[in-house]
Amino acid sequence: MHVDVSQLTGGRTWSGDYTPDTEVVESLLDSTAVRPFNVALSATMVEDSIYLRVEVDGEVYARCDLCGAACKAHCGCVLDDELSLADEAYDAESNEYDLTSIIEEALAMSAPREARCSAECKGLCPRCGANLNHGHCGCAKETIYIGENNPFGAIKDLITGGAENGSTKV
Ligand SMILES: [Zn+2]
Ligand SMILES: [Zn+2]
Repeated sequence: MHVDVSQLTGGRTWSGDYTPDTEVVESLLDSTAVRPFNVALSATMVEDSIYLRVEVDGEVYARCDLCGAACKAHCGCVLDDELSLADEAYDAESNEYDLTSIIEEALAMSAPREARCSAECKGLCPRCGANLNHGHCGCAKETIYIGENNPFGAIKDLITGGAENGSTKV
């Protein structure tokens, strides 16, 4: 992918969408892409500097951070860079700037920060490892649930209220 520098003269902004090679994306992210990634590029030139913005949008197959189930994870990043016509990537003869390495850097940076099978994922029980999305295990009940027949059931609301306003007084 190249930007034609002659298109940037006179303060004009150049922008374009680019679909990177899926094999390149997958090797940079070490994951399988759900569909081809999109890279949105925009550039403006001030004197001999090109201000470039690279925005990556994509999705890869992943495993949920909380429960390990197969899921999809969003890949995205915005990279701003200042390019100089003194850089090696600029070719004076064709008046083009080669964006390949910057795009690859942005793609690598777009690696998912988190993967969730669903927004409501309950994860695994830290004690027994049961997947809590499939129902409560015995140990989860003991720690978080105060039942109707529990002698401390009557103070449940007081405990909850106390925790919310920061007071421990009952
Ligand atoms: Zn999950
Ligand atoms: Zn458990």
